[in-house]
Amino acid sequence: MSAASVNLGDEVVMEPEVLQQLLESLRSQGYQVIGPTLRQGSLVYAPLSSLADLPRGWGDAQEGGVFRLRKLKAPIFFGYGVGQQSWKQFLYPPRRRTWQARREENGFQIQLPDEDAVKFAFIGVHACDLAAIAVQDKVFLEGPFTDPHYRARREQAFILAVNCGHPCGTGFCVSMGSGPQVTQGFDLALTEILQGTRHFLVAAAGSARGQQLIAQVPHQKALPEQRQAAANLTAQAARQMGRTLETADLKSLLYRNYENPRWDQVAARCLNCGNCTLVCPTCFCHTLEDTTDLTGTQAERWRRWDVCHTVDFTYLHGGGIRNTIRSRYRQWLTHKLATWIDQFGVLGCVGCGRCITWCPVAIDITEEIQAIRESELTTPPAAKE
Ligand code: SF4
Ligand code: SF4
Repeated sequence: MSAASVNLGDEVVMEPEVLQQLLESLRSQGYQVIGPTLRQGSLVYAPLSSLADLPRGWGDAQEGGVFRLRKLKAPIFFGYGVGQQSWKQFLYPPRRRTWQARREENGFQIQLPDEDAVKFAFIGVHACDLAAIAVQDKVFLEGPFTDPHYRARREQAFILAVNCGHPCGTGFCVSMGSGPQVTQGFDLALTEILQGTRHFLVAAAGSARGQQLIAQVPHQKALPEQRQAAANLTAQAARQMGRTLETADLKSLLYRNYENPRWDQVAARCLNCGNCTLVCPTCFCHTLEDTTDLTGTQAERWRRWDVCHTVDFTYLHGGGIRNTIRSRYRQWLTHKLATWIDQFGVLGCVGCGRCITWCPVAIDITEEIQAIRESELTTPPAAKE
């Protein structure tokens, strides 16, 4: 099939081994290729040197507070849900120097860091994480202020997405409208199919860069039954989704329930560890740290991820403003599912399930919302005040 005949959205079929050529082509174009790999019993996103680095034949078992790798019978490359990491760490790094200053004879000189030109190619991005990148775009690119560092990395990133056929145990992307099928925001989307001994990839380009990549590797036009197999895979994944979060009326539900006693119950369990925030692919809160060297000639300011679960994070002049676990957990959840809409026009949750899996006491955002909903059936909010 020729390059010109690959239109955006056309589905073509490739042999799985073609993935190696795709990786090599991206690398030859100057991309740093990042994808899923196994490390210390977990699934991480890290530089890939070859196809052998992908977690072939491995899946995951997730539930509240639990993540385990699981050996699969099928030798597939993309048989996992999502690990604790997201692509956020590459576009919005956990730690970054924002400026440094050096004392000179007549004052001091401020130096801004160069906007680094790292070109990332992300391999194996799930639909929920694509949606999360779109949410962070709203925060860093589409508001009154833009982050030049995020912009530099984001604009260059090549995204090879995978349609999810193996939902993680804690996800609820279907009810958030963010998965399991990717619909936009990718350069190339793959669906991996294994039918008996027949193993193939159904691919579709979502951008000119994706079209060019497909054109460089052997492919065939997808047959109707192959396209149907791809559609069936994500439909089956959607049916297997174990959790739901009812989004209708979510904002006003939370605004009506600032004083719901459920906040006390969840606060009694919450450890304020901040895991839920750090693993969340949309959370963007950070702090700034200033340091000087011992001679007083060099000063630096660093931006570092922070979490709204600590009292320090709430510090304003004179002290912290959210001094209870109840108020801090309520802040986190209400921001994700209510005030985020006022700020950015979208929900701050894409249903990836990470905050449930990686919470050491298995607090479940879907369960908390459902409990608040049900409490209104028995005790209307006005009666609680
Ligand atoms: S709040 Fe939880 S489920 Fe929602 S996007 Fe963040 S980590 Fe994922
Ligand atoms: S909800 Fe869970 S993960 Fe989040 S701060 Fe509390 S204990 Fe930690």
